[in-house]
Amino acid sequence: MDKIEKIQRWLSDNNRDIALISDPKTIQYLSGFYSDPNERVLLLVVFKNSDPFLFGPALETQAIKESGWSNPVYGYLDHEKPWEMIADQIHARNTAETNFAIEKANMSVEWLELVKSEFPTGDFSVNLDQMLDQMRIIKSADEIEKLKIAGKWDDFAFKTCFEAVKAGRPESRVAAEMSYALMKNGIMELSFPPLIQSGTHAAEPHGATSDKKIENNALVLFDLGTVWDGYISDATRTIAVGKPDDKSMDIYKVCLEAQLTAQEAAKPGITAEELDKVARDIITKAGYGDYFNHRLGHGMGMSEHEFPSIMEGNQLVLQPGMCFSIEPGIYIPNVAGVRIEDCIHITENGNEPFTHTTKELQYFG
Ligand code: MN
Ligand code: MN
Repeated sequence: MDKIEKIQRWLSDNNRDIALISDPKTIQYLSGFYSDPNERVLLLVVFKNSDPFLFGPALETQAIKESGWSNPVYGYLDHEKPWEMIADQIHARNTAETNFAIEKANMSVEWLELVKSEFPTGDFSVNLDQMLDQMRIIKSADEIEKLKIAGKWDDFAFKTCFEAVKAGRPESRVAAEMSYALMKNGIMELSFPPLIQSGTHAAEPHGATSDKKIENNALVLFDLGTVWDGYISDATRTIAVGKPDDKSMDIYKVCLEAQLTAQEAAKPGITAEELDKVARDIITKAGYGDYFNHRLGHGMGMSEHEFPSIMEGNQLVLQPGMCFSIEPGIYIPNVAGVRIEDCIHITENGNEPFTHTTKELQYFG
């Protein structure tokens, strides 16, 4: 059963007639075509009983056809009314069936109101998000291959950063060297803006790369990700420039033990919350529990916002094909921040990481 057939089966089982899919990443997952249409409409319409169609800006229709999508494609020009045209195509296939399932996490209120005005008696109560999340949670061999290639480019990104890192050089300069090296190799897209944070700056888990000069005798955190054929990488390494103080070194040692122990424990049968606890217990026992203020990991694949979430309260049992990050962190304000992260895929009897850059503390001048 292909992915579209799975959606059709689900519509049937859930007494729904039509799925409206508007998240560009979901559309790529289901159709093979990716484009971010910005404010324009790109919509995949899947019917319970007939072939799906893609609807998008007229300037994209040729690219959609060339992407291998073999079902109908309809385009609209900027001055036309897309939701009226979509409704016409739906009416042409369905006489009176208007039980919809929509991606509530993605569709805007504005778009929903426009669809509702076309189907005044339609039912829009059912959410498609959970079904899609469940579909995407187990990756195929083909998806794992793409994640491995994205991971190799992430290892390359670390290498270029480590060659460029130097006390006194701005964090932003090191990020620029990395981006330039990737682009020279044809890697044009990063999964998120690179995070390069030195010394106390690394104690802000959601801080950004700045023009701050890299401190001497301090730790530097690198959180980097690339995109390969729609699939992402995401990994973090923390390294030393000069000789960091004892406190920084202790935080590093504890964080590394937590990361390695959790990665060792990730296998089929353990639950997401148990895995989180493996890392958290080590950090708590060392006295830093309050400074590990986020979940252990997130699911990943086409984005870093997928399932499973590796956190307290998630009793999901891990299974082969699930892909997620293992990223404990210890952030002590005004002292230092350490995070060490690999993304892995669960295999039949353990797991395999997508990135292989050493996690032993590396020293640079
Ligand atoms: Mn990361
Ligand atoms: Mn991550």
